[in-house]
Amino acid sequence: MEIKAEDIKVSFQAKQVLRGISLNASKKEFVGIIGPNGSGKSTLLKCIYRTLKPDCGAVYLDGLELERMSVKSSAKKMAVVAQHNYYNFDFSVREVVLMGRSPHKKMLERDTAEDFRIVEEALRTVQMEAFADRSFSTLSGGEQQRVILARALAQQTQALILDEPTNHLDITHQLRLLELVKGLNVTVLSAIHDLNLAAAFCDRIYVMQDGRIVSCGTPKEVLTPELIREIYQVDAEIVRDSKGNMHILYT
Ligand code: ADP
Ligand code: MG
Repeated sequence: MEIKAEDIKVSFQAKQVLRGISLNASKKEFVGIIGPNGSGKSTLLKCIYRTLKPDCGAVYLDGLELERMSVKSSAKKMAVVAQHNYYNFDFSVREVVLMGRSPHKKMLERDTAEDFRIVEEALRTVQMEAFADRSFSTLSGGEQQRVILARALAQQTQALILDEPTNHLDITHQLRLLELVKGLNVTVLSAIHDLNLAAAFCDRIYVMQDGRIVSCGTPKEVLTPELIREIYQVDAEIVRDSKGNMHILYT
């Protein structure tokens, strides 16, 4: 699955939040979006996962314009782990993950044994199977995030959109989630807060600042002391560990 955004612009009242964003993630590529708070990462992702309609520009999935696709057919191609997940109703964990199956069903079609099998497997994958009957709203932020990932896994798509998916997670679960996502071998487009995680997992990174893309390339190309200083106003050193992996030290 290839994701492409072309010249996306969004304004809220007088404020232009996205000033013409173009990017792409090719098949099975893990693409990160970094940038300071308020630079427009979530707004851009919302345009891609159809929660927000851009003022101008277009999003394409495998060359098909999103606007011309039904919500159901785009949901078969692309799953989302958003930053905040609220339900107005008290769903159980299992019911939340079952929602991932709905794009694959006809209207009013019942959940099948196969659906339940996929849901159980997704819950096992994120190590939340023991929570299946718990009410989603009683879970911690990190547990909720893993359940939402299970919902995305149950959706069985070739593309995943993630908005700071490791936000509420401890370091073990941060690494586990990103390794799991990487191992799916699907196209991933993810806003990532932590530059070291971005360096470790992304094939390519886009850097956003003030509604624009200001840099793009491999982690090695993009994550330089100069760029980090310019974007985040902090001094940093790039070092290599004993395995040759790059790390950013804030000095
Ligand atoms: P990021 O995810 O990079 O932190 P966001 O995309 O959430 O940034 O926000 C970009 C800017 O747009 C921020 O200044 C934010 O306050 C503003 N913004 C986002 N959503 C809305 C909205 N619904 N109404 C008004 N301003 C918004
Ligand atoms: Mg955000």
